[in-house]
Amino acid sequence: MVRAARLGQNFLLDKNVIQKIANYFSPKSEDVVLEIGAGRGALTRIIAPQVAKLLAVEIDGALIPELQQISNIEVINNDFLELDLGSINPDKKIRILGNLPYYISTAILTRLIHQKNWIEDMVLMYQEEVAQRILAPTSGSEYSLLSVMSQYYCEIDKGFRVSKNCFKPMPEIESRVMHFRFKPDVKIEVNDYVSVLQKAFSQRRKKLRNNLMRELDLDADRLDPIFKDMNILENVRAENLTPIQFEELILRLATAD
Ligand code: SAM
Repeated sequence: MVRAARLGQNFLLDKNVIQKIANYFSPKSEDVVLEIGAGRGALTRIIAPQVAKLLAVEIDGALIPELQQISNIEVINNDFLELDLGSINPDKKIRILGNLPYYISTAILTRLIHQKNWIEDMVLMYQEEVAQRILAPTSGSEYSLLSVMSQYYCEIDKGFRVSKNCFKPMPEIESRVMHFRFKPDVKIEVNDYVSVLQKAFSQRRKKLRNNLMRELDLDADRLDPIFKDMNILENVRAENLTPIQFEELILRLATAD
């Protein structure tokens, strides 16, 4: 039980909900799918027969023999956070599916965004409170680095809620399944974008201007004209900028170098 909690093992039991998630994922015969945290195979069993190939990633060695009974899958007994997607299936973009282990669900999303060039799209289940942070509107109380990063790189469909009663053991809060598709027209590399976001949000309650001057070692003569051109008021916080405003700010900082 301790191990189950440590590994975020809340297994899906409700057959209707499992089918609903599979329908939402909408598998196609040519798909190469990677499932994060396949567990006891609740989703794996339904999706595997409908696709070209399913790679089932599971960290817990105790669950591997059960997964190996399922046909048309390749089981990868590893920590997803250590996998390099480019080396897994370089010839075709993969589709990602996962009822995610909650203790690392944001780390997984960050890693997926960093590896977006290898990914077609993703259907992921989050705890509702994390889902609300991902979807949060600009200036809302839950708007954070996670929201800006997710919304800048992905079109997100907010999907549907899944009751905590559908799992065993039952988690404390409800979940949400969402669909993520990467936007084709973003202008900034993930590392560059996230690096500035980390600095902008380093002290959330402080002014964005001060955070950027301190963390990027900029002086006012350089930053203030950019703020003025972009109609950003001197006293805004990071949480008041949209993902696209962050893009413009970063591009302007780069050209002012
Ligand atoms: N897919 C199954 C289902 O829907 O019933 C299980 C989902 S359960 C919420 C999360 C699964 O992720 C568990 O089986 C857990 O062992 C596995 N897991 C936890 N950490 C992992 C990691 N770092 N890499 C891969 N799998 C992990």
